[in-house]
Amino acid sequence: MPDASLLKSQAWGPCSYNVATMKALRGEVDFIVVGAGIAGLRAAIELAEAGRVLVLAKKEVTESATQYAQGGIAAVLSDEDEIGLHLQDTLSAGDGLCNVEAAKTLVEEGPPRIEELIAWGTEFDRSGSKLAFTREGAHSRNRVLHAHGDSTGREIGRALYFKASALKNVRIMEFELATGLCVTDGEVHGLTVLNDKGERHDLHAAAVLLATGGLGQVYRETTNPAVATGDGVAMAFRAGAAISDMEFIQFHPTALYVKDAPRFLLSEALRGEGAILRNMEMVRFMPKYHDMAELAPRDVVARAIAHELELVHSPNAVVYLDMTHLPAKKIRERFPRIYETCLKYNVDISDEMIPVRPAAHYAMGGIRTDLDGRASLQGLFAAGEAACTGVHGANRLASNSLLEGLVFGARAGRVMRECKRKEGRKPEESVTMQPTFTPAAGQIAHEIRELTWCDLGIVRSPQGMKHALAELKKLGASLPAQCNRAACEIANMHLVATLIARSAMAREESRGAHYRLDYPMHNDAKFAKHSIVEGENIRFE
Ligand SMILES: Cc1cc2nc3c(=O)[nH]c(=O)nc-3n(C[C@H](O)[C@H](O)[C@H](O)COP(=O)(O)OP(=O)(O)OC[C@H]3O[C@@H](n4cnc5c(N)ncnc54)[C@H](O)[C@@H]3O)c2cc1C
Repeated sequence: MPDASLLKSQAWGPCSYNVATMKALRGEVDFIVVGAGIAGLRAAIELAEAGRVLVLAKKEVTESATQYAQGGIAAVLSDEDEIGLHLQDTLSAGDGLCNVEAAKTLVEEGPPRIEELIAWGTEFDRSGSKLAFTREGAHSRNRVLHAHGDSTGREIGRALYFKASALKNVRIMEFELATGLCVTDGEVHGLTVLNDKGERHDLHAAAVLLATGGLGQVYRETTNPAVATGDGVAMAFRAGAAISDMEFIQFHPTALYVKDAPRFLLSEALRGEGAILRNMEMVRFMPKYHDMAELAPRDVVARAIAHELELVHSPNAVVYLDMTHLPAKKIRERFPRIYETCLKYNVDISDEMIPVRPAAHYAMGGIRTDLDGRASLQGLFAAGEAACTGVHGANRLASNSLLEGLVFGARAGRVMRECKRKEGRKPEESVTMQPTFTPAAGQIAHEIRELTWCDLGIVRSPQGMKHALAELKKLGASLPAQCNRAACEIANMHLVATLIARSAMAREESRGAHYRLDYPMHNDAKFAKHSIVEGENIRFE
C-alpha cells in the first residue's frame, strides 16, 4: 500500500471534474451519495454492484470529519473483550436513550466490517503481529483500534477511497455542493448541486443517500472541519423528512485553547494513556466529579471543566491536560500528529501542560432513519453523523462514530440497491446562478455561532434558549437569497441552529449531553423518548 506521504500528491489529487463531466452524467446516474466520508464511501462500495453511483463532496475529499478522526474506532476484536460489554458501555453512555436494536447492530456488525477494512488495506497499528488496542473514556475494555498513532480516520479514509474509486461504477466528484432535494409526491428522486462557478444542475436518480457529516460549524467553538454545516439535516428537513434528537450535541472536553490556533482536538486517547486534567491552581479535579475521573463519559468531563472555568471568573480561564508524567518518547510515538500540531502552536505536549477548553464535537441527532438508513421520505436515505438511528442515545461513546459510519453506511447501501430509477421524472436541468452573497452574510454566520455557543452550549438555561430562538427568528429575516454556496451554507446553519433550539426547549429534563439548569434531573416518565421534529411540529416517541 502507498504510505501516508503519497496521500496528497497522488492518490488524493483532485478528481477530474468539470461542467462537461457533470452534463455528461445526466440520465446516467442510478444512485447519488452526498458525502465522501466514511459513511458515504462505504455505502458507495456496497451500491456499486447495483448501478452507477455518483459520490459528491463539497470540497476536496480530504475535507471531512473522517479525515480528522484521531483516537480510533471501537470494536470487539480482542480475546479479552465481549460484544455484550461493548453494548453495555454504548447503552450506559447513551444515558437511557439508545435505540437498543441499533446499538446491538453496531457492536455485532462492527467486527466483520473492520475485518473487511483490513482486507481492503487499512493498516491499523499492531503490537507485534496482533492488533493494538487502547482504552477511551467510558469503555470498560481496551477495544479502540488506531492507525499511524493518531491518524485513524485518515488511514480508513484512504483505504475506502482507493477501494471505491477503483470500482468502475463509482464516480467521485469534488467541489459540488448539494443544495436541495427534488421531491415529487413525497418521494425523493434527485437533487440540485451548485459548483464553485455558480453553475447549478438538477440530477435525478433512483435514490439519494445523505452522508453529509456533522454540524459543528454552527457553534463558535468546534473541533469540526469547515464542511460540517449540517447541510444534510437542513435539506432533509426542508423536503419534509423527520429529524430526531437535535438537542443532543456532544461537547468534546479537550480542544486546544491557544490564541489564534484552531480548536484542535486533543483525543480522549490521551486520557486513555494516562493524561490528567488540572485546574488553574494545578489541582487535579476530575476524581471529585466522577468515579472514572478523566475517563468518565464526555458530557460529565465537559460539564466538570465548564464548572471549573466558571469558578475562575475570567474570560481567559482554561484547564490543563497534563501528560508530563508520561515518557516523552512514548507520547511522540503514540500521538505524532497531535504532538506536531501542538508544537506548531508552541506547546510541547511531552514537556508542558496543554491549555484546553471544551468545544462542540459531534451531533447525536440528525435525519431520522431506520436501521437500514431509510429516512421518512421514500427514496431518501441517510447514514453516518448526518443520520439518527438512535444508536448513540443522548451521548455517544468515544470511537463509536467511525464505526457507525461503517456499519450503517454499508447497510444503507445494501438496501438502496433495491430502488429503481423511475422514468418520466423531470429531465435534468442546468442553470447558471448570479452570486448574491453580501458581506452581511458573514456577520450572520458569526451571530449564529455566538448564539449557539452562549445559549445552546454545555449548560442551558430557559432564558438562554428563549433568547436564542428569538434572535434566530430575527436573523432569519435577513438571510441572503440562496443562490451561492456560502449563502446556502449559512441558511443551513441557521435552520440547524433553530432545530437545536426548538428541540432543546421541548426536552424539559437533563439527559446525556443536554443539560438544563431548570430541569437538572431525568424525567423518564415524559422524556425517555426521542424528540422528532417535522415542519412546525415537535413530538417525543
Ligand atoms: C477532530 C475530530 C476527531 C474525531 N475523532 C474521532 C475518533 O477518533 N473516533 C470516532 O469514532 N469518531 C471521531 N470523530 C467523529 C467522526 O470522525 C465523525 O463522526 C465521522 O467521521 C463522520 O463521518 P461521515 O461519513 O458521517 O461524515 P464526514 O466524514 O464528515 O464526511 C462528510 C462529507 O459530506 C460532504 N458534504 C457535506 N455537505 C455537503 C453538501 N451540501 N454537498 C456535497 N457534499 C457535502 C463533505 O464534503 C464530506 O465529504 C472525530 C471528529 C472530529 C471532528
